[in-house]
Amino acid sequence: MAKIAFIGLGHMGGGMAPNLAKAGHKVHAFDLSEEALAHAIAGGCARAGSTEEAVKDAEAVITMLPAGKHVAEVYRNHIFGKAPTSALLIDCSTIDVATARSVEEDASAQGYVMVDGPVSGGIAAAAGGTLTFMVGGSDEAFARAKPILEPMAKAVIHAGGAGAGQAAKICNNMILGATMVATCEGFVLAEKLGLDAQVFFDIASKASGQSWSMTTYTPVPGVGPETPADHDYEGGFAAALMLKDLKLAMEAAQQVGAYTPMGGEAEELYQRFVDRGGATKDFSGIIKMIDDSWKPRPKE
Ligand code: NAD
Repeated sequence: MAKIAFIGLGHMGGGMAPNLAKAGHKVHAFDLSEEALAHAIAGGCARAGSTEEAVKDAEAVITMLPAGKHVAEVYRNHIFGKAPTSALLIDCSTIDVATARSVEEDASAQGYVMVDGPVSGGIAAAAGGTLTFMVGGSDEAFARAKPILEPMAKAVIHAGGAGAGQAAKICNNMILGATMVATCEGFVLAEKLGLDAQVFFDIASKASGQSWSMTTYTPVPGVGPETPADHDYEGGFAAALMLKDLKLAMEAAQQVGAYTPMGGEAEELYQRFVDRGGATKDFSGIIKMIDDSWKPRPKE
């Protein structure tokens, strides 16, 4: 079993790190937040007083941080030169492809092997050990990363070279954002045309309008499987995180000159929903903005 440093124990990392401990690894955990750290310790991880302390004799380092700027800062100032060069570095945060590639280049220049391994699946999948990891890095690096990620995973997939995991993640979520908006529009138009939502679901989920947003994550309460729609759009995947991923996708599209008008439209709509107070609602809650029933929560 390996000595693993785990940095970033928030909504996602706080569920993931204990699964590594349960699998028998010695997990040295650190987070700037004492509350987050205490939760991971209760889950069987060992307390580290700093990132430097967590990584000093690690065989693998895993980070699960908010955004690219945090990842660049933590690796450049607290991990490079502090972790042994034999340690495999795995960043599981969702960040922009350019930062992922630049941090991985720096890691390589300093003698480390590093991969990007962003995840699909939310807080429940993080706690349940059923995330899908999309890994960018060399064949050799992927072969080393796979057994370490497996206790936290339903699937660990090699996406390609450095940054390919991040590329796969944002392309997937751009499709998800656009199909969720299209699915919501379909339900709203169907209702205005006098169709029963359940009947429309029965038809579209077996016809060419079918998608994950339609059949697995149905945005209408009482229709399809149980989803955040059945809990007033609480829990699930926050609209603010969908917006973050759409922004990353649009930034990447601009950098490489890709034409992504549907992604751009989805970004604009999620921005509007977040601006109107929908940030913490599940992203399928955008249906309430589309059907014009969205009533932002009163300010506390
Ligand atoms: P979060 O904000 O809950 O957790 C991030 C943690 O990092 C916090 O506890 C924070 O204190 C810690 N942190 C920040 N800077 C640090 C530093 N310098 N040193 C040590 N700790 C530091 O975020 P989250 O929801 O856990 O998401 C983490 C990443 O996973 C993000 O990139 C997000 O986009 C991605 N993601 C989230 C979800 C989700 O459903 N929440 C799903 C898939 C991917």
